[in-house]
Amino acid sequence: PHKMSPEEEEGLLSEEDEEEALSARPVQIVVAHEDDHAFELDEAALERILLQEHVRDLNVVVVSVAGAFRKGKSFLLDFMLRFMYNQTSCSWLGGHEEPLTGFTWRGGCERETTGILAWSEVFVVDKPDGSKVAVLLIDTQGAFDSQSTIKDCATLFALSTMTSSVQVYNLSQNVQEDDLQHLQVCTLMFLIRDWSYPYEHSYGLEGGKSFLEKRLQVKQNQHEELQNVRKHIHSCFSNIGCFLLPHPGLKVATNPNFDGRLTDIDDDFKTELVNLVPILLSPENLVEKEIGGSKVTCRDLVQYFKAYMKIYQG
Ligand code: GDP
Ligand code: MG
Repeated sequence: PHKMSPEEEEGLLSEEDEEEALSARPVQIVVAHEDDHAFELDEAALERILLQEHVRDLNVVVVSVAGAFRKGKSFLLDFMLRFMYNQTSCSWLGGHEEPLTGFTWRGGCERETTGILAWSEVFVVDKPDGSKVAVLLIDTQGAFDSQSTIKDCATLFALSTMTSSVQVYNLSQNVQEDDLQHLQVCTLMFLIRDWSYPYEHSYGLEGGKSFLEKRLQVKQNQHEELQNVRKHIHSCFSNIGCFLLPHPGLKVATNPNFDGRLTDIDDDFKTELVNLVPILLSPENLVEKEIGGSKVTCRDLVQYFKAYMKIYQG
């Protein structure tokens, strides 16, 4: 007979929950209520994901993609999912005519909910050193459309940054001053979409490095505030990188019938995508979440989420 785990005894994981967990999908774990600027953690949803028996005691790797609406985050996350589900295959990118699925993504300008979504399936990966880690993928989106929401957005980003081991900061075309100020508080990877100056800084990690060095430079004649933001960023993150991604092509950006199939995506974009995703997700590159110098398990992460929520609600 099956021995009940503490969570099951507490009734956290009912049979329905177990069944539900089988169909992997995005789950909203933090909801931002824009009317009263309140944040709400769906503790039950978070626990259903992180307290699953096969992952709860493993060290967790949390890869989060954060940024504003309609900048291709879900599109990228869906390719990250393809990588996670087809790690061992060299053709993980998928079939030419295969529609892209996972985190739902769509064109148009209609707003979606602000908040944090997690992929319900936590991936178990063997690292080259023989250890097993649990990989959680997170999508964080905020609104930057008015002053009142900028603070909420910063809070949301801070929350996702504090709980992730790798934060991918998804930006369109360039790094603006605003983008730096939104950062309050691991590894930070700036991901610049639609990069259109490859002759100045080439696509990929190398070009990103030289571009970011230039952008984050502290200059003598700069306003003090701008200098401080730059110094602060360097002091907050142990490792900062930048990746320049080309424009994916007009079908991706403008065709309402585009369903994510590879044939409709520009070659340059696919080439760089194949470089980017393994930098973030291949077993040797996975970064386990540490807090105060100690590695954190999925079970610990639930507690940290609750604690951080309290700080930001206060
Ligand atoms: P999200 O709101 O940030 O998750 O954005 P989505 O992934 O839903 O994508 C929004 C729209 O942008 C869709 O129509 C995508 O086809 C398109 N898109 C995806 N990636 C890119 C990109 O790198 N550049 C441009 N210009 N459009 C993209
Ligand atoms: Mg999205």
